[in-house]
Amino acid sequence: MTRKDRAKKTIEALRVAVPQPETELDYGTPYELITAVILSAQCTDERVNKITPALFGEFPDAKALAAAEPEDVYPFVSSCSYPNNKSRHLVGMARMVVDEFGGDVPSSVDELVRLPGVGRKTAQVVASVAFGIDALPVDTHVFRVANRIGLAENASTPAKVEAQLKRIIPQEDWSEGHHLLILHGRYRCTARSPQCDGCNVAPYCLYYERLQSLPEPIAGLDKKKGRYYCATRRHYFDTPDETTDRYGTPQIACPRCGSMNVYLSSTGVTTRKVRDFRV
Ligand code: SF4
Repeated sequence: MTRKDRAKKTIEALRVAVPQPETELDYGTPYELITAVILSAQCTDERVNKITPALFGEFPDAKALAAAEPEDVYPFVSSCSYPNNKSRHLVGMARMVVDEFGGDVPSSVDELVRLPGVGRKTAQVVASVAFGIDALPVDTHVFRVANRIGLAENASTPAKVEAQLKRIIPQEDWSEGHHLLILHGRYRCTARSPQCDGCNVAPYCLYYERLQSLPEPIAGLDKKKGRYYCATRRHYFDTPDETTDRYGTPQIACPRCGSMNVYLSSTGVTTRKVRDFRV
């Protein structure tokens, strides 16, 4: 299956699994959206949605926020991560919106990235969600899910993932695809424990395919003879060697022959790990 086919199938499957592919941040205007997105860095949307009603009540538009000092904003955002920085960024953003854009949040990514606290990802979210511009911002969820499924290949940075996704997903699907991948990553394909059972992307997912190709457990091992069992040399041992496989994933190896064909003797389960992206 080509990566383009994999992307098509993934989007189709996620359209069924994620009925409402849209931001979970509460907002009414572009100003409210950009404020909420700045606050959402390293913070959950749920927490941001608890903060913003009082913040928007006090500072209803860019003009009101531009007239404030960061210390005035701090009490409203103190329960969020990095409140000092975010207070400064919000006031700086509002002042530039007022001074350079007449009080209206600009719509282009190039203009948005000039605002304090606004990186490429935030700019693309605002351009896409508030102004309907095709964009495919890559956050940690999109990065992890795209790598796991195999939509991205050897892409070590969000910018590389973004470039690869844009080559295989049609432009008209970028914004929807972004939300589908985020919500899939947030609720099913989570960093620590992806719920692969019942995932309707599984038939197209490289990570799942590799999990399925792990060797079956061996029955009847005797844990009294050692913690590990090497199925290549057929012996038990307690202290393994460590090695990395061709994907760079750390693996346990037999100290005698270096084989990675090793099992836990207590359960009979292979010690082989599939390359993962737990960001
Ligand atoms: S099968 Fe597992 S790893 Fe693959 S997309 Fe679904 S939850 Fe994620």
